[in-house]
Amino acid sequence: MNETARRIDSIRDRIRQAAARSGRNPGEIAIVAVTKTVTVDRILPAINAGIRLLGENYIQEAMEKIGSLPDQLVAWHFIGHLQSKKVKYAVRHFDLIHSVDSLKLAREIDKEAAKAGKVQRILIQVNIAEEATKSGISADDTLELVREAGRCEHLQIEGLMTMPPFFDDPARARPFFRALSELKDRVQAAGIPNVIMKELSMGMTGDLEAAVEEGATMVRIGTAIFGERL
Ligand SMILES: *Cc1c(COP(=O)(O)O)cnc(C)c1O
Repeated sequence: MNETARRIDSIRDRIRQAAARSGRNPGEIAIVAVTKTVTVDRILPAINAGIRLLGENYIQEAMEKIGSLPDQLVAWHFIGHLQSKKVKYAVRHFDLIHSVDSLKLAREIDKEAAKAGKVQRILIQVNIAEEATKSGISADDTLELVREAGRCEHLQIEGLMTMPPFFDDPARARPFFRALSELKDRVQAAGIPNVIMKELSMGMTGDLEAAVEEGATMVRIGTAIFGERL
């Protein structure tokens, strides 16, 4: 087994163990391999090891890679801050956009998706710890955003995403993961037409166990697969 395959195996183990601790089926948890700064020749071994979802933060960087990888094998997820002028490219190339955090952005995506004849799958990014430096809508405004964006015909809202504050001790991220999970349940309970809140995109290299134990369905993993970013 090569180094990348070994690293991915070890992430799958971590997910399995966390799922077992919380009585979950590990098959419900997808790995999104985060490929920012990672070149195509280093992404291929991850695909060979079974990775099928690739997460990128920058449209320009992603577009340089997307054409070079077998698109029948992988799906691209956009996980970075999305600028208005890049929406068109995001809709063209990405299966799921994790980072929708305003009605304005949701409507721009809807408009481009309509032009492309596509229903764009999206998640709402929540700034669950209300950090001044982070993107994301506040927890208090999330229900209203889902309600309004849920009216857009070319959007399919599938769940929530968050990036909690960074802690040396990942246990401290857990309350934020739990808060996102509870928020997802509250939004789902509101019964908004055409909205099925099934995905929770949360957990990265340092804190995936806590995220899985609190209900993550997608973990976004960079460093543990590809090593430290330069
Ligand atoms: C870079 C990044 C990740 C991956 O972080 P690692 O700690 O390297 O696993 C996950 N999510 C987002 C939004 C990122 O920007």
